[in-house]
Amino acid sequence: MTEFFGHFVNGEEIESADGQRFETVNPYTEQPWAEVALGGKADTDKALQAARDAFDHGPWPRLGPQERQRILRRFSDLMVEHAADLARLDTLDMGKPTPQAIADVERSAWNIRFFADHQVLSTGDQYPMDSGHHAYSLYQPAGVVVAIAPWNFPLMMESWKVAPALAWGNTVVLKPSEFTPTSAVLFAKLALQAGVPAGVFNVVHGAGATGALLTSDPRIDRITFTGESSTGKAIQTAAAKNLLPVSLELGGKGANIVFDDAELENATDWAVQAIFRNAGQVCLAGSRLFLQRGIYDKFLELFKAKAEALKIGDPQAEGTEFGPLSSQTHYKKVAGYVSTVEAEGGRILTGGIGQGLFVKPTIIVDLPLTASQYRQEIFGPVVVVNPFDSEEEVVRLANDTPYGLNAMLFTENLSRAHRVAADLKAGTVWVNCFFIRDLRAPFGGIGASGIGREGGNFSREFFTEPKAVVMQINRRPSWE
Ligand code: NAD
Repeated sequence: MTEFFGHFVNGEEIESADGQRFETVNPYTEQPWAEVALGGKADTDKALQAARDAFDHGPWPRLGPQERQRILRRFSDLMVEHAADLARLDTLDMGKPTPQAIADVERSAWNIRFFADHQVLSTGDQYPMDSGHHAYSLYQPAGVVVAIAPWNFPLMMESWKVAPALAWGNTVVLKPSEFTPTSAVLFAKLALQAGVPAGVFNVVHGAGATGALLTSDPRIDRITFTGESSTGKAIQTAAAKNLLPVSLELGGKGANIVFDDAELENATDWAVQAIFRNAGQVCLAGSRLFLQRGIYDKFLELFKAKAEALKIGDPQAEGTEFGPLSSQTHYKKVAGYVSTVEAEGGRILTGGIGQGLFVKPTIIVDLPLTASQYRQEIFGPVVVVNPFDSEEEVVRLANDTPYGLNAMLFTENLSRAHRVAADLKAGTVWVNCFFIRDLRAPFGGIGASGIGREGGNFSREFFTEPKAVVMQINRRPSWE
């Protein structure tokens, strides 16, 4: 084990003040592959102060939109140039197959570029008034943003937060997940290399305790968080003490609904992507699959064959499509759900527990609707399949969950597609597809899946302080 990753504060990679470190483990080999600085109070203090000073006195919030755009576009280009290096770090940390990790880097680079351009093209509003005045809106940077990220799409989730935060002129302290800390360091170094001033983008490593130090600090202005619903509640509680706006992207238990008029090759291809990509460690996973009775057997036959054809193995080997679970801790959780399927009354059609930290692509049938596998977020390659008869029934089943992040539906019936999309309790509904996202569209969840929306103008609302300026045009008191 030779590699070391420090915090990144004020443009420098540094050890913890007390020299503490933790190990990051490659889930394929189950061996530690790098050491990482473990952030304590002195380290969070230093990073927060750097971000505060850079916001209050530095050039970044005061640059023109096109100046920031130029720098952020360079940042995006540098990420593409370093795609293999960035992807390697995510793969070593959490077992994501290399091509998927590369795709994540490309998407992350696009996120940076999109928000750089979006803030240039954005316009405010102007409100003519009857009283001889007019008002207009200004969108000014919010301040210091604390960004807390999960491990399932390390770089990509971080970029969704860092891109709009930087584009709108804020400064950032990012805490990556303790399971996937390493790509964030290179990410921040590339920002500096592109011209983002020192202190604007800082990274502190550590687990929940480090995160809590950041989110409870009065020097911050926004918290953007992605992770479990239970952690989201802790973060909202911390934010309430300082009256801070929070953006919470939380868990999910996505419904994937296939009507009997669906195009089955397309629907089964997407169903495989929806639950087995990234070994099912996707908040948007289609983990509850509802099949209309007329196509139940035919769909399962096709779906099972495609699940079994996935190439499982070393995430760094060519051709691998499906890697291990991200950590020992997470493996135990997912394997626990799989090992109790029969006790809960269900049957494993294919899959089950594999070698090392692998859980194979697993399809469960005949499970009662009260079973834990059906109701709770497993966050692994495990799908529970149920038949349904009518549109009303499936909408009721799909909405019967505390979560509301996303849903998918497959049908060739246009009216039904619109009707069901409107009736589903979900922040995003995909019709005849999955995972496609336009960065201008709202993204977020209902209920236990989160608070707030990000994307395009929704991100602008969160990462700025919208201000009204009222101008007098005619010298006439407004009460006349
Ligand atoms: P997690 O909640 O365990 O951890 C997320 C982050 O929060 C980590 O960086 C962790 O160190 C930090 N953290 C933990 N306790 C904290 C505290 N008290 N204060 C501040 N920070 C704290 O989640 P995870 O296991 O890393 O990620 C998986 C979860 O994320 C799943 O529930 C998944 O659905 C969800 N997720 C949601 C989205 C979305 O867009 N809605 C996207 C990806 C993942």
